[in-house]
Amino acid sequence: MKNVVVNGACGNMGKEVVKYIFNSNKARLTGAFDRNYVGENIFELIGIKGIEVLIKNDLEEIINEKDVDVIIDFTSPTVVMDNIKITLNNNINMIVGTTGITDVDLKKIKRLSEINDSNIIIAPNFSIGAVLMMEFSRKVAKYMDDVEIIEMHHDNKVDSPSGTSLMTAEKIAKNINKRKESEINYIEQLDSVRGGQKDGITIHSVRLRGLVAHQQVIFGSEGQTLTIKHDIYDRSSFMVGLGIALDNIDNIEGLVYGLEHFIN
Ligand code: NAD
Repeated sequence: MKNVVVNGACGNMGKEVVKYIFNSNKARLTGAFDRNYVGENIFELIGIKGIEVLIKNDLEEIINEKDVDVIIDFTSPTVVMDNIKITLNNNINMIVGTTGITDVDLKKIKRLSEINDSNIIIAPNFSIGAVLMMEFSRKVAKYMDDVEIIEMHHDNKVDSPSGTSLMTAEKIAKNINKRKESEINYIEQLDSVRGGQKDGITIHSVRLRGLVAHQQVIFGSEGQTLTIKHDIYDRSSFMVGLGIALDNIDNIEGLVYGLEHFIN
């Protein structure tokens, strides 16, 4: 039985993770970290009675007071690096779903995990469907080399573009044949209307109330397009991947980036 602390426990994902751990026979919640609802019982907050874990706003304090085997982080790009430093420096293993982690951050995290001999799994997307979408996109890139990504999320998502779209672009860019430079001088009548670029791949971000998490990867070639589309309608879809990460966190060495490393 793993003792788990959830960072961002009161958020959309955090609450789903707390529910998942409550129903798991492999893990139990020993701490809840969040800046909201401090002092309240996280289980009561999600409608589960008869069990108490109080929400705290000090991760060091939780680590010092509780038994902790793994810390799961679904907070915000602004605080995730601080949480990672605290966790790894305390020799505790970590699973991170929070997005917005840069390539420079990843290098620092790798080093931190090596120095402290602790493990960390970071996955911008824990949904199996999204992992498959990225893998299919990577394969198609070899044969159809014109491509744009449209990612669409709920209006409370802080970072743009999504971590998943960045990861998809990276994978496509590695597998794509060299693209012919367009001879057309495109004119943008509105700033950024043609989207942003990651490794030469164009990404468009939509933020809209009512959406959850959606992505289309549209490939084009002479006279045809191929669209790979993935939609998440419920955050429970992330829990299968999170379970895979929990099962593997003790058996890896250092940093693993991306859930695909655990899926054949
Ligand atoms: P959310 O805003 O609903 O929840 C974030 C929680 O973190 C909030 O409760 C907030 O109070 C807390 N928090 C933020 N800053 C804090 C701080 N400084 N100290 C303490 N608590 C703090 O967001 P969400 O929809 O749950 O998403 C959280 C993160 O997870 C985002 O980065 C999002 O992109 C990412 N995400 C990843 C996946 C995945 O599969 N990897 C899936 C969905 C969302």
